[in-house]
Amino acid sequence: MDKRRLLAEYGKKICGEKLVIGAGGNISLRNEDRVYIKKANFNMAEGSVEGYIDIDLTEKYSLNKELSSETPLHIASYEAREDVKAVIHVHSPFMIAVAHKVTLLRSTSYEFDCILKKEVPSLEYIQPGSEDLASAVGVDIKRGANAVLMKRHGAVSVGDSIEQAYLRILALERACITFLHSS
Ligand SMILES: [Zn+2]
Repeated sequence: MDKRRLLAEYGKKICGEKLVIGAGGNISLRNEDRVYIKKANFNMAEGSVEGYIDIDLTEKYSLNKELSSETPLHIASYEAREDVKAVIHVHSPFMIAVAHKVTLLRSTSYEFDCILKKEVPSLEYIQPGSEDLASAVGVDIKRGANAVLMKRHGAVSVGDSIEQAYLRILALERACITFLHSS
């Protein structure tokens, strides 16, 4: 399937799960040197392919004002691990609540073990959209994390496909709800 069509489909699903509202959150896919990513200020609930653009990883993209403000975070995730082919970033209140409580979210269930595989680190608050946030996420992804919580902000998941990154963000949401009801 066309990459932008695939992103449009998953962007809509993420909004349906209420993991973001308005123009919040962003998603991307990597195909060799190209990254397909959400545009700034686009509401993924619209489900339009026009909300996504592609950039060349080997070229300077930082001056492109059309790009999502969290583009550095996505690029850092791709640079951290070769197996990362998709990145999802959301603003779920359950994830933010858990991020307030822990520095590391340990497994809450067998589902967590099967899908997230690894414990989920929780970062201190770092300015959204900054290079500092991108580097901090990149460090955790490089250490093997498949998802990272961010205080006062949300979370990011990675996968070898958009399907896997989506399953992981859903598993993280469910783990956070379980944690909040059992702690
Ligand atoms: Zn954000």
